[in-house]
Amino acid sequence: MSRYSFFLFLVIAFSAGCLESNHREAGDGVLGGVFCPDCNVILISIDTLRADHLGAYGYNRETSAGLDEFAAKSLLFENAYSQATFTLSSHASLLTGLYAEVHDAEVYRGSGLNDDLTLMAEVFKQEGYDTLSFNGGGAIDVGTNIQQGFRVYETGGDLSNNFNKTRNWISENGSRRFFIFIHGYDVHTPYFYPGPFYREINPESNVSLKEFRGRIKPIHDCLLRYPDNNSVCVDQGYPEEEVHISSNVWNAERNHSVSSCNCSVEVLTALYDDGIYYVDGLFSRFMAELEGLGKLENTIIIVTSDHGEELGERGEVARHGHTVYNELTHVPLIIYVPKQKPKRIEKNAELVDVMPTLFSITGIKYDGVMQGEDLTKTKAGNLAYSEIKYYNLAKKTLVEDDLKIILTHKKNYLDFYGELYNLSQDPGETQSLHNTEGMQGRAEEIIEKLSNQALANEKLKEEINPKRYQIRMNEKQKKRLRDLRYLR
Ligand SMILES: [Zn+2]
Repeated sequence: MSRYSFFLFLVIAFSAGCLESNHREAGDGVLGGVFCPDCNVILISIDTLRADHLGAYGYNRETSAGLDEFAAKSLLFENAYSQATFTLSSHASLLTGLYAEVHDAEVYRGSGLNDDLTLMAEVFKQEGYDTLSFNGGGAIDVGTNIQQGFRVYETGGDLSNNFNKTRNWISENGSRRFFIFIHGYDVHTPYFYPGPFYREINPESNVSLKEFRGRIKPIHDCLLRYPDNNSVCVDQGYPEEEVHISSNVWNAERNHSVSSCNCSVEVLTALYDDGIYYVDGLFSRFMAELEGLGKLENTIIIVTSDHGEELGERGEVARHGHTVYNELTHVPLIIYVPKQKPKRIEKNAELVDVMPTLFSITGIKYDGVMQGEDLTKTKAGNLAYSEIKYYNLAKKTLVEDDLKIILTHKKNYLDFYGELYNLSQDPGETQSLHNTEGMQGRAEEIIEKLSNQALANEKLKEEINPKRYQIRMNEKQKKRLRDLRYLR
C-alpha cells in the first residue's frame, strides 16, 4: 500500500466519526470459569523483562528456572502485549485498564494520572482489601499520582527489598485480605548483576561475582563523572576489566546504539540475562516463603512486565520507549490462580486485560470504564493495541492473530508510513509485507481496526479524562529519573 493510501485511509476512518471500536468479540471464555472469590492478589511487575528471554517463553538460556516452574502451575499468555513501551505509560494502562491515549500518563511529557481516573487499587480498597505497593519508584513515583488507592506506597527499593517487605508484612498481617503491587528495576539498565552467562563468555574472569556486584556501582558512578575518558577510572584504582564492562553498559545507555558504543551485543545480552537469573532467584525464594506462610492456597499471583528491551535489534541496545516492535511490546503475562489447572493460551492478550480479569476472578463487580477484556469470560482477544509518543515521534500498532501493523506518524504530522509483519513467519519483524502483492487487503482491514481504536480512544479521553495532570517531583525524584534515563 502506498504512503498516500495509508494516509487517505486514516483520514476517511477518522473523519467518519461514527466508527465504533470493534475491539473484541464476545464469546465463550478460553479459560472456562476461573474463580478465586475474595482471594488475595499479588501483582508483580519486573520492569524491562522481555517475554522471549524466559524459558517458559522458549528462550534457550536457563535464565528462569523459578519463573518456569511457576508458569507450569499457572495460566500463561503466550502472546501478551504492553500498551506502551515506557514505564509510566505502560504501568498506567496495567493499573487503569485504559489505553495510553486515554489515561495520557507519560513522564517525559510531565503528564501523570488525574484523580478522576479509577485505578485498580482504589477498587480493591473499596472492596475491603488492604492495598500496598513496594516498588522501584522512578517513573512510577508518587508525583505521577499513580499511587491512588494504595494505603501504603513505598518507592525506591529493588526487588530483593520489595519481596522482603511484602513477606514481612504478610507474615505479620496475613489474616487481612490484601492487594499488593510489587515492582523493581533490577533487570533495567544499568545491568548490575553479572552472573553465569557473563561468566560463560568470559571464562578467564577471576572476578568474584558477589564482589563484582558490590564494586560495579562506584565504577558506574566514576564513568558518569568521566564519560569520555574511562582510563581516569582505571587510574583511580578500579580494575581495568570491570571498567571495560561497566563502560560497555554505560556507553550503551548513553549512546543507545551498537555502532556508536564500544560494546558487544553478546556481553550486554549476557549481562541482561544475568539480571533475569538474579531476579528469578529472588522470585523463587519469595514463592517458597509464600508457601511457608500458607498463602498459595488463597492468593492470586500475576507476573508481568511493562515493556521489553532492545538487545541488538535494529542496531540499538539497552533501550526502550521509542518503538513498538515485539522486543519492546511482547511481555510475559503469567497468572497463578489457586486450584486452577495450568494452561497456555495462544491468543493475544494485553496488559489492559489484567484489571478486568482480576476483578472477575475475585468476584468484584465493577461497572466503571475499562478498555481491557475479562480473559476468563470472553475469548482472549485476537487484537492487541499499543502506541507511543516520543518527542516528535508517534507510532501506533495493532496485532491481529499473527499479523501486525505499525503506523509511524511522520514529522510533518500530515502523513504516516506503514509496516506489516507476519509474526509467525518473521518474529523479528525484519521484512515488511505492506507492499507485497496479495497483502494489501489484509493490511487495510487491520488499519481500519487500528483507526477505529485510535478514534474510540480519542473520544473516551474527552469523556473521562479531558484535563492534563502535571507531574510534581522533587529534585531527588528527578535525579532518579535521570539515572534511569527517563529524563534528559
Ligand atoms: Zn519500565
